[in-house]
Amino acid sequence: MTYLLCEHCLERHDTHPDASRAPAPNQCFICQGVFEQLPILVKQALDSAAHIQWANYCVQATFSRPLMVREEEVMDGEELAEAMVIKNQANRIAMKEIEKQSKKPFKTDGELVIKLDFWHNKGTAISAPLFIFGHYVKKSREWCQHDWACIACRGKGCEKCHYHKQEYPAIESAFREVFKPAFGASDAYLHASGREDVDVMCLGSGRPFVFELVHPQKREADLKELAKIISTKFPLEVLGLKFVLSTWPSIVCTSHFDKHYRAWVEADRPLSDADWQTIERALPIKVLQQTPTRVLRRRADLIRPRSVYSISAVSREPNLWVLDIHAEAGTYIKELIHGDAGRTKPSFTGLLGTPCRCKQLDVMGVDDAFLLTISDRAG
Ligand SMILES: [Zn+2]
Ligand SMILES: [Zn+2]
Repeated sequence: MTYLLCEHCLERHDTHPDASRAPAPNQCFICQGVFEQLPILVKQALDSAAHIQWANYCVQATFSRPLMVREEEVMDGEELAEAMVIKNQANRIAMKEIEKQSKKPFKTDGELVIKLDFWHNKGTAISAPLFIFGHYVKKSREWCQHDWACIACRGKGCEKCHYHKQEYPAIESAFREVFKPAFGASDAYLHASGREDVDVMCLGSGRPFVFELVHPQKREADLKELAKIISTKFPLEVLGLKFVLSTWPSIVCTSHFDKHYRAWVEADRPLSDADWQTIERALPIKVLQQTPTRVLRRRADLIRPRSVYSISAVSREPNLWVLDIHAEAGTYIKELIHGDAGRTKPSFTGLLGTPCRCKQLDVMGVDDAFLLTISDRAG
């Protein structure tokens, strides 16, 4: 059988023994002339992106399944599968056309994703998500990190949540309120490295996060100004905001950082100098922590070894110790103090032989200096 192919398809299959040039593109055995549509699809895609700010682009071409089957059939008659892939060829041809029509350059992770759908004969474009890295400081004991639907109404709105639909005000919602309109994004998500409890403040240099803006129409904004709005409107601060690559959310979310805490410790009896010496002698403490009862619903029940590197006293009254604790990533500090009915060993309760409680807790610093060593922009 002779395969009549258009100039583009022939370019891919020029070593095929039975391939020859079709008299017209629409008589091409494989593509039936879809490449003729390319300039129109490009124009459609660019028109659909008129409201989007972008400096460079990437392309995704898709073809119908029957077309791909015909492509395979022709490839089967070839000596070696050295033919180029039709999608790559379409992308290459599209790049020339897009640069002609838009005068903007191609980039592998381009800001505008141009989708050329040769199956449904449609060109569309979406803006690639935008990622902003920073550290947040949380100066409240009534805020949670992520949206948390009201437990009473499951987020429908009720009297208990005053129709805010949320159990607690959330950092994610506050960021969304400020960043989303600034970038004309359709949605936005917070990716953070771990989280503190609602009643724990996060102070010092703050906790690292990446904020993702979905389908932003703008890719620039005055980040310092946005940080100022956040600190004025909410009990939050964002530090060192900068644009980063799409690889950052997973780097930040999967990294585990040692942390510095400040803990307010109370006991059932007055605490003495001898008690303090007991704690000091135990340092550094190798702790075995069985998953705390309060998080058992969400986490597997395991025993995890953790290190408490140092504990120093900020103040020591018989009825209240204020301590600075430096501990390994993932250490549960409240449990380190009260012992969680023996699930954390050793604990303050166990070491001092009297029930102890963590009256208040703050995160004072996250040892995440390594994030500074990662490139934030593509070369
Ligand atoms: Zn063709
Ligand atoms: Zn409610």
